[in-house]
Amino acid sequence: MISARNIRKQFGGVDVLRGVSLELGKGEVIAVIGPSGSGKSTFLRCLNQLETIDRGDIEIEGEILASTDSHGICRYAPDKEARRICRKMGMVFQQFNLFPHLTVLQNIIEAPITVKGMSREAAVPLAQELLRKVGLLEKCDSHPSRLSGGQKQRVAIARALAMEPDIMLFDEPTSALDPELTGEVLRSMRQLADEHMTMLVVTHEMAFARDVSSRVIFMDGGEIVEEQPAASFFANPLQPRTRAFLNHLG
Ligand code: ADP
Ligand code: MG
Repeated sequence: MISARNIRKQFGGVDVLRGVSLELGKGEVIAVIGPSGSGKSTFLRCLNQLETIDRGDIEIEGEILASTDSHGICRYAPDKEARRICRKMGMVFQQFNLFPHLTVLQNIIEAPITVKGMSREAAVPLAQELLRKVGLLEKCDSHPSRLSGGQKQRVAIARALAMEPDIMLFDEPTSALDPELTGEVLRSMRQLADEHMTMLVVTHEMAFARDVSSRVIFMDGGEIVEEQPAASFFANPLQPRTRAFLNHLG
């Protein structure tokens, strides 16, 4: 579903991604962990063109989003094409970014109607179904300010799903939440995984990484230091930097 090869990215002359490669298969859940500043968010943002890459290749479901020729020149698909390719991916951020002036339902139907051209008649039942799925149907007419952080994040998940993506990218979706509110968000994500959604999840929730993901990737200093099936990653981390990171978490 995603093939990223040798992705390089600099910010102001500083290497933030130093040749990151990743293959994400259909229905697979990969957890990305690593210390703050290791490039996890930048990598996710490069995949759906919230950042542009300097070098490397990105294919989404076999379609080329960006590719680099033998002279090191990186080219993107034309704008319209690139936007269409990126719409295959939904993204959920640490900050929920809901529209404060819209109700929960309006937040969810906005993009399907304006971006996808879906009719209101189709968008509303879809939004209701997704709200039921994340357990928030009764909040459809509330404004985001009336919701807890965990509820806001579940609305954000429903909003991303309303675009009917094939792949979901999560960037530390529970990091901004009080500890007692992370469980409800993780449950919604786990349910998605059980339904075989293809997912790439940056997270500090090690139990989630161990129990829900099939593979775990550890990033440090802008590169992938270790990649293993989830069970062996935690039982038997091979790299000293991975061990130090896991030990530090306790
Ligand atoms: P992580 O998500 O693993 O904490 P990030 O991808 O956010 O790491 O950041 C990696 C590095 O890139 C950090 O040193 C950060 O300061 C830098 N960085 C991220 N975004 C920008 C930006 N827009 N401009 C300049 N530097 C950035
Ligand atoms: Mg980050």
